[in-house]
Amino acid sequence: MTQTSPATIPHFINGQRVTGTGERTAPVFNPATGKESGRVVLASAQDVKEAVAAANAAAPGWAATTPLRRARILNAFLRILEERVDTLAELISAEHGKVFSDAKGEVQRGMEVVEFATGAPQLLKGEITEDVGTRVDSHAVRQPLGVVAGITPFNFPAMVPMWMFPVALACGNTFILKPSERDPSAAVLLAEWLKEAGLPDGVFNVVHGDKLAVDALLEDPDISAISFVGSTPIARYIYETAARTGKRCQALGGAKNHMIIMPDADLDQAVDALMGAAYGSAGERCMAISVAVPVGEETANALMAKLEPRVRALKVGPGTDPEAEMGPLVTRAHLDKVSGYVDAGVAEGAELVVDGRGLKLQGYEDGFFIGGTLFDHVTPDMRIYKEEIFGPVLAVVRADNYETAARMINEHEFGNGTAIFTRDGDAAREFAHAIKVGMVGINVPIPVPMAFHSFGGWKASLFGDHHMHGPEGVRFYTRLKTITSRWPTGIRAGAEFVMPTMK
Ligand code: NAD
Repeated sequence: MTQTSPATIPHFINGQRVTGTGERTAPVFNPATGKESGRVVLASAQDVKEAVAAANAAAPGWAATTPLRRARILNAFLRILEERVDTLAELISAEHGKVFSDAKGEVQRGMEVVEFATGAPQLLKGEITEDVGTRVDSHAVRQPLGVVAGITPFNFPAMVPMWMFPVALACGNTFILKPSERDPSAAVLLAEWLKEAGLPDGVFNVVHGDKLAVDALLEDPDISAISFVGSTPIARYIYETAARTGKRCQALGGAKNHMIIMPDADLDQAVDALMGAAYGSAGERCMAISVAVPVGEETANALMAKLEPRVRALKVGPGTDPEAEMGPLVTRAHLDKVSGYVDAGVAEGAELVVDGRGLKLQGYEDGFFIGGTLFDHVTPDMRIYKEEIFGPVLAVVRADNYETAARMINEHEFGNGTAIFTRDGDAAREFAHAIKVGMVGINVPIPVPMAFHSFGGWKASLFGDHHMHGPEGVRFYTRLKTITSRWPTGIRAGAEFVMPTMK
């Protein structure tokens, strides 16, 4: 392995930046200018093997490091993040396109998981029962799995990896991160800062790559668990392959999040919420609201009257513009895909109220920009309703009553997040109780759980049993061992051939 040139985005294996043996690279763009800003190396199977070997070699030492010491290293990492949040946010904004304040927000949400993980000694406390039988005690402990891997999407290049690795490391595992090849630099910076915080070499590694690297991780017998976040077809593939290769797996997929607006909702509050939730980060969020469901014609008409001018007035600009509310999309291919969905919506007969296609910004003519887009009279049979667009396109589907609105959500393929805006406690309670979605907001448009709760959807939005971070994260990254012990003073049990029962 050789040292790197500045324009190359390297792997980080065994405490070193390395370019690896892979001969392929992929372009990384500044989405605001459309220009290539660097090239990321794509790992060969051999590079993945080296990362796994490094993580495997480091695993026994890290597992034997006391939880308190692990927590201290994570604390030092947290302090580095606090000092340099702007540096990381600038890097994210430059490769992803999101505005700086939004990039900073994602780092802060990730830091909260690091903060949660610094509670390692408390999180890993076991259970004990004295006298399960006469002078027999039972205790249960949670032990690390060994080497675990995380495969992450482009839309949160720092936060989504931070949903995973702080908890995995706190629990005593070593980690291999395979970030998105579209905005890979944040992962390398995080690896360097972890090292600076005192993390031993090999405990956290980054390999860049595409399907080849992912498949090498999935097939490697030394990896015990895979955490994945990305689109549903790939999540399903990861989950099925991990099951075949005998790995624990949590695979989070795509989304189509609905917001119901009841007739009694505070409409101004609902419109503010919709603007941020549908158009923030150019809609490239798995918790973005992409469907608004006003209940009743009167509510729908009043909502559209307030929404349309707001969408038209959205400030679109490069991530570096402090006035911009929304940046470009991540790549030209994604821009073409999102524009294609707008074409499809028109062809399917939805009413295009605000058209963001073809937006050109002065000085950024080659950037991957699309303006805020708003459809009315969308129906559940349309592709723009059924499929995830992952862009700044909001579909308004009018419903006659609450039951129709809720049924629509329950029948949708995805079940990541949802929200209801209402003043009616009964309706809100019924919604929270009965809706088939993993994360529910009541007058909260993007109900992303805090780090000490767990994040995850239902249906095609999550394959696996565990959500991420919080208590579910600790369960995912540890395995349970239950020890039963007898202290023999004064007891002679003799040989027992029947199933042990309590005496
Ligand atoms: P993606 O599925 O294209 O890529 C995710 C990861 O999988 C990347 O690391 C990528 O390199 C890898 N990958 C891509 N194609 C692969 C293949 N054929 N075989 C193996 N690995 C492959 O997703 P994306 O476009 O980077 O991210 C956007 C998607 O992620 C959206 O669908 C969004 O809803 C979803 N997402 C979901 C959540 C959630 O919590 N449920 C959070 C963030 C993003």
